[in-house]
Amino acid sequence: MVKDWQYSKRNKQCDDCDYSFTDGEDVFSLLRMIDGDLQRADLCRACFDSRDEAADVVYWRTTQHESRQSLRLDFDMLLALLEKLLDDPRDDRKDLSYLLSLLLVRHRKLRLERVQVKGQQEIMLLRKTRSKKTFAVESREMTDERRTELSKQLTELVDPTRESPI
Ligand SMILES: [Zn+2]
Repeated sequence: MVKDWQYSKRNKQCDDCDYSFTDGEDVFSLLRMIDGDLQRADLCRACFDSRDEAADVVYWRTTQHESRQSLRLDFDMLLALLEKLLDDPRDDRKDLSYLLSLLLVRHRKLRLERVQVKGQQEIMLLRKTRSKKTFAVESREMTDERRTELSKQLTELVDPTRESPI
């Protein structure tokens, strides 16, 4: 079993073209949203260069060696992701920002300071734990189905071994 696992990790492939990465080679890891679904993808340089940039949520570069250990996204990365998402006016990004901020509150990385009402919108003002940094996140209305699905996708990014929603 252990042997099989190492074998499959060593032969990790590009998610778009099935190219097998060699050890030490650059891997472009990204989160993207396609038709409202959040996906994590590891791409070769050619696929990364020709990707649809409009689908990007965030990307980072690793090497094949590193990516074996970096399946989990750490909380600093999620905070950086939230900051980036908050600059994006698209509705699916706003949904994701909202759920991501709830996840960070749950893990005590953010604390709710207060809620601001702007017309029809409710904005949560959140402060990063042990920091002065604040985030203004719009509360989002979404169907239970949509919320469950997106929460599940987000939870799997944080911890692929866990399947229950946030
Ligand atoms: Zn590729």
